[in-house]
Amino acid sequence: MGKLNVVMLRYLSREHFRVLTAVEMGMKNHEIVPASLIASIANLKHGGCNKILRELVKHKLLAYERTKTVQGYRLTNAGYDYLALKTLSSRQVINSVGNQMGVGKESDIYIVANTEEQQFALKLHRLGRTSFRSLKNKRDYHKHRHKMSWLYLSRIAAMKEFAYMKALHDRKFPVPKPIDYNRHAVVMELVAGYPLCQVRQMEDPAAVYSELMDLIVKLANHGLIHGDFNEFNLILDNDDHATLIDFPQMMSTSHPNAEWYFDRDVNCIKEFFKKRFNYESELFPTFKDIRRECSLDREIAATGYTKEMQEDGELLCPPGSDEDDSTTEVLELVEDAENELNFLISESRTSDNDLCSSEGEADTAESEENTQRLSMSELSSALQKAGEQAALWEPGEDAEGSAIISFKGKGTIENAAEVENQAGQGGCCKVKEDEDECPELVDSSTLNEEFRHYSEECVVPVAGHRTRTKSISSVRSVGSCSTIPPELVKQKIKRQLTKQQKSALKQRLQKGEANVYTKQRRENMQNIKSSLDAVNFWG
Ligand code: ADP
Ligand code: MG
Repeated sequence: MGKLNVVMLRYLSREHFRVLTAVEMGMKNHEIVPASLIASIANLKHGGCNKILRELVKHKLLAYERTKTVQGYRLTNAGYDYLALKTLSSRQVINSVGNQMGVGKESDIYIVANTEEQQFALKLHRLGRTSFRSLKNKRDYHKHRHKMSWLYLSRIAAMKEFAYMKALHDRKFPVPKPIDYNRHAVVMELVAGYPLCQVRQMEDPAAVYSELMDLIVKLANHGLIHGDFNEFNLILDNDDHATLIDFPQMMSTSHPNAEWYFDRDVNCIKEFFKKRFNYESELFPTFKDIRRECSLDREIAATGYTKEMQEDGELLCPPGSDEDDSTTEVLELVEDAENELNFLISESRTSDNDLCSSEGEADTAESEENTQRLSMSELSSALQKAGEQAALWEPGEDAEGSAIISFKGKGTIENAAEVENQAGQGGCCKVKEDEDECPELVDSSTLNEEFRHYSEECVVPVAGHRTRTKSISSVRSVGSCSTIPPELVKQKIKRQLTKQQKSALKQRLQKGEANVYTKQRRENMQNIKSSLDAVNFWG
């Protein structure tokens, strides 16, 4: 962990930002943006644009990439960070960037300050980085696939986080005060305290336990489930009061899997208190205890922040609607595969009928059985592919360095390193893997299967204040939910799947020997022949 190197912000000209923005725009439908396209978006002469591009590559804000079919540029994390920081600093939300104080599953957290030297936390969302880079050789142009790119996913996560935080803060929930957001960056109140995962002792675990359970119930009464309510996303102050953070994965209590997520949140806290403080209580909330007071889920869904997400059909499940239902999506996935197969079947039948019409219907049952078998194998391979696709998603890398740098070269913050390196994310609640698997979700389990090691600091209260001792422990992230919206992943899988199936079918049709029709026809002919032989035999 270290600093975000923002030195270049001071030296970059308007043209540099223009070119950076042009690459960002180009990346809406290109993974690698050709230089000519960048020049025309930026409305700069090619020569001048190329010089700027080279400089931006030198400062690692852009990366030059070359594949068999295309060569061009893509934004790096640093480039995207610069664009967001530039906007936030021009809005005078932040003026200086300090130490990195946290690394989450899919984010980097920094201390920042405004011109009045008031400190905030800056969360930079980093989603889906690795997987998309590894795909780069396969496709240069991704038509509608900007929806899966790390730029898009990170931006949506930030937007969602800000929307939830604002709604919760307005309702006096113990969450950081949201300040502003841009692109993948969210600026929020810097919470004083320690993540619960670092707290080794507390005076009254029962009181904290009940405060946390009350918070889960209060959220649910407002129509919301956090979805990652664990010791990594709770910051405890010196009075042992908790502040809840990390909201991109929040969902509505009307979500079809809401009860499962609710129980998982409750279990995370139960397990953590049992393991860490040896505290067990018979009292814990259940989904049936929820008494809806208001519908924050609907309110958030109605705000402008989430419009884009709604358009993509991947926000909260609106109450009463099945659209976000993962089960429905699995069914859709299967349906798609089946439609594809039905098409194949009907084609196959037509050709079979053409071939065997004179032989009557003797082979129809057999033919159906064949296609049935085929559809089952297609389906299982489709589902397997779905699993493979979901496994593509991986978290990203960390930044390095230290110290605070003002954009304008002046600001310094003395105690910026007060909040120190923190543990990663994941939820220590050791819900067993099979228990942790929501039976009706396709890929949340795959998304959650990230093996990670976290360095953890113990915090021991000394005369009302906490001190830290270092301890290293490794935790497997099984209790936490990935912040990548599962619906997005499913959409992606669905699209890829049908495409892959289509091309597989095409290939098979073209391949002669492997042609599925030929195979079926042969089998049918054999069946007919053998039944005719039997008739002959019996006279
Ligand atoms: P992720 O979504 O990647 O899990 P989090 O929002 O949970 O990221 O943040 C990761 C870590 O950063 C947290 O565990 C916490 O220690 C620290 N952190 C995040 N936001 C704040 C904040 N507003 N104030 C203080 N610390 C924070
Ligand atoms: Mg977190």
